[in-house]
Amino acid sequence: MTTKQQIQNFFEAGMIADALGVPVEFSRRDTYTVTTMQGHGTYDQPAGSWSDDSSLTLCLAETLTQGGDAEALMAKFVAYLEHGAYTPGGEVFDVGNATREAIRNFVGKNVPAIAAGERSARSNGNGGLMRIAPLAFSTVNLPREARRQLTQDFTTVTHGHVRAIIADDLYVECLRQLLLGQPLAQAMAAAWPVIAAAGYPAEELALFHRVHDPALANAAREAIRSSGYVIDSFEAAMWCALNCPTLESVILQAANLGEDTDTIAQIAACLYAAGHLDERAPRNWRETLIRTPAAERIISEFAERFGAD
Ligand SMILES: [Mg+2]
Repeated sequence: MTTKQQIQNFFEAGMIADALGVPVEFSRRDTYTVTTMQGHGTYDQPAGSWSDDSSLTLCLAETLTQGGDAEALMAKFVAYLEHGAYTPGGEVFDVGNATREAIRNFVGKNVPAIAAGERSARSNGNGGLMRIAPLAFSTVNLPREARRQLTQDFTTVTHGHVRAIIADDLYVECLRQLLLGQPLAQAMAAAWPVIAAAGYPAEELALFHRVHDPALANAAREAIRSSGYVIDSFEAAMWCALNCPTLESVILQAANLGEDTDTIAQIAACLYAAGHLDERAPRNWRETLIRTPAAERIISEFAERFGAD
């Protein structure tokens, strides 16, 4: 079973990756090189600042520790968007359009949380992937149908299209296999048949062909797109995590792909870290990461609830 310290390491890896990607988010590939944690850039934030990816992950982690549902998660999203809760500096400087709109639907139009996310095929950004990882720890011993339902409910609060649901379902199942001890290629090979048998539309499943193809590891860098589209982000993160030998190199590879650098780095770091739970990022990155009392409390309570001694 995963230990409390390993869970702490996992959250740290994701937040560090987010923070390395933040200053170069939206930059074109190969117009810059990230070599370490730095400040300023895209949002002019201090070094070690993490973004919505980590803030929304913390919201989910706290919800799961408290045994909360989608309504409880959405209430935390409101506190994040309207009051800057769950942020490193009290300010929201980066939030996806779908997530912002869903929060407005929930608050302003009284839409139930699980129906607040846009259902259009055009609303398939990576906003679910960026926050769903803690669910793998809390559901690792639950039956498949319970895992699927929880993943769906915690996805549709902001992303209601089946493609976003499939992405989160596949990601959580893959993380689960990693937590059970499978290396990444085998974890994905074990997770995919579970998703393929879940009754999703065939034309939607087909869009994930590269995500679960073992040959993705051999793709050239030019063949990897790093946009915020959920399929692009998932492929890019898998490609980095499959090809890089250390947590440090996974994060740097992802942060240097351009475009949605923070989210892709965070997803890639999670995919790597779930299989290497004792490995930590370089010390100077850990020391530069901004650690707020709220984030520290949420992570340690989550580790206490779902980790072993
Ligand atoms: Mg972000």
